[in-house]
Amino acid sequence: MLRQALLAASRSGGARRVVETAPFTDDVVRRFIAGETIEDAERVTTDLTGEGLLVTLDVLGEDTHDKGQAETSVQRYVELLERLGSSGLGTRAEVSLKLSAVGQTFDEDLALDNARLVCAAARSAGTTVTLDMEGHTTVDSTLRIVHELRRDFPDVGAVVQAYLRRAEEHCAELAYEGSRVRLCKGAYAAPASVAFTDKDEVDRSFVRCMKVLMAGKGYPMLATHDPRLIDIAGALTVLNERDADTFEYQMLYGIRPQEQRRLAAQGAQVRVYVAFGHDWYRYVMRRLAERPANLRFFMRALVGR
Ligand code: FAD
Repeated sequence: MLRQALLAASRSGGARRVVETAPFTDDVVRRFIAGETIEDAERVTTDLTGEGLLVTLDVLGEDTHDKGQAETSVQRYVELLERLGSSGLGTRAEVSLKLSAVGQTFDEDLALDNARLVCAAARSAGTTVTLDMEGHTTVDSTLRIVHELRRDFPDVGAVVQAYLRRAEEHCAELAYEGSRVRLCKGAYAAPASVAFTDKDEVDRSFVRCMKVLMAGKGYPMLATHDPRLIDIAGALTVLNERDADTFEYQMLYGIRPQEQRRLAAQGAQVRVYVAFGHDWYRYVMRRLAERPANLRFFMRALVGR
């Protein structure tokens, strides 16, 4: 119920104005966001990679309805990737791209062309791109774009959301050699006709998907903070005789940082998803929706002032 309300608020202009201008907002945002500028992102990436972690960087912004704004998003990514290339960070840091930030909402072909520009910049910087998966109505379009891009950029990462009823099918289609696939639970509101709405059902779907990906020939990227699922991933590693360099764990910046370091210290590859930029509202609202305790943190920040 609370999750649905927060996800609805993430799409509401009125709620956005209230939250963005509230004096307590800074503390909450700082927990999940690396900062606003490329310099902030570079500093956090340098720190994390210095500790043995990998990074994927997200330039915040989504659901663009304007061609000019989509071009601006592409420019920001290109600028970021040039910086990763020149600093040498491209060997340890890639980027995550939301197609809705580069035109998917109003023109799929434009989004494809724009994503191509980002992939070309990533290649020049010696790194890769993963296409985030967004709301359920965009899944087919995003998978079409993934397949199209992989003709020229076979290392483009795809994302499967375990809460979708078709998730296992998507995993089976994507578990081929060289295919980088991020598996996550899914962070958007979706109706019961297309998605599991019960948490245990989502977890069971995640396990089924993980089994398919870990037994397959691709490169699984297991994006979860859930301790039970991380334990099961460990067991599947042994069962499928996978070496540590054939898959990775992924977690979000600011969430379970000790666990990120614990897994890395054990020899696992761990990639931290680092979001930065001005347009943080929807991203942060999704983080609040994921965990009721975050809302308490949010409310404490409110009354503490
Ligand atoms: P949960 O059951 O939500 O959480 C398990 C435990 O993790 C919690 O008990 C808590 O200890 C901790 N935890 C989880 N979330 C939080 C939080 N917000 N704050 C504090 N603690 C928390 N979703 C998409 O729909 N599309 C994507 O492209 C996408 N990319 C992602 C990339 C990465 C690297 C990660 C880690 C997640 C991504 N997500 C994406 C979000 C994902 O779908 C989930 O919403 C999110 O990861 C929470 O699910 P969980 O697996 O951690 O399990």
